[in-house]
Amino acid sequence: RLFVESPLAAGPLRIDGPAAHYLIAVMRMAPGDPVKLFDDTTGEWLATAAQVGKRDLVVDVSTMLRPREAVPDLWLCAAPLKKGRVDWLAEKACELGVDRLVPVITQRTIVDRPKTERLRSHMVEAAEQCARTALPGLAEPVKLGAMLRDWPDGRTLFFADEAGGVAALDAMLAHPGPAAILIGPEGGFTDDERQAIRACDQGVAVSLGPRILRADTAAAAAVSLWMAANGD
Ligand code: SAM
Repeated sequence: RLFVESPLAAGPLRIDGPAAHYLIAVMRMAPGDPVKLFDDTTGEWLATAAQVGKRDLVVDVSTMLRPREAVPDLWLCAAPLKKGRVDWLAEKACELGVDRLVPVITQRTIVDRPKTERLRSHMVEAAEQCARTALPGLAEPVKLGAMLRDWPDGRTLFFADEAGGVAALDAMLAHPGPAAILIGPEGGFTDDERQAIRACDQGVAVSLGPRILRADTAAAAAVSLWMAANGD
């Protein structure tokens, strides 16, 4: 199951680059073998290998299997973390069904510029394995203050605060619909930031329990609770 960048349609399609390497060298694809392709625009298609070369192959795209899905309307707004942890977070956000990942720069953020290409490739791999037909969006990094100033009406901001709040599941059941989850960096939010977030009209401070979770664990736990609360 492979992601392709350009919109799919029935007919021949040439595949090269890393995707071709994977199909030819790893999967040992031969003419006649099937492969599922998806494109983040139309949906998922069945294709069959027609010609297999050393570095590229041509497949015949035939039938649309599933149209692009409607993704649950949840953003994950998270301070960029150190390399391994942010990669894990991007992968899990995609698997758990997040619609958009928003890197948020806070006072204690250690990593100012997440490597967006690397994050995207982790999300593509996760989407390939978890059968998503739509990729999560990856927003430009935004400073916390600017994000709060421009916060859109009608989208609840669940602010995960280890200092306490309403039990996350209760809060999420009480506020269904479009939402975002905000997770702090390794060092947590400062008191000023906490106040600013709590002052946001749509903000709801939530607790994920009495233990201080790592930021990536907190993100996965909060997203899972939101998906359960919203039936997604
Ligand atoms: N030092 C650890 C690390 O390296 O990841 C813990 C960081 S914790 C302060 C990071 C963020 O996770 C917090 O800002 C908060 O958003 C979230 N968090 C952690 N535990 C939580 C809890 N029990 N309830 C709500 N949010 C929590």
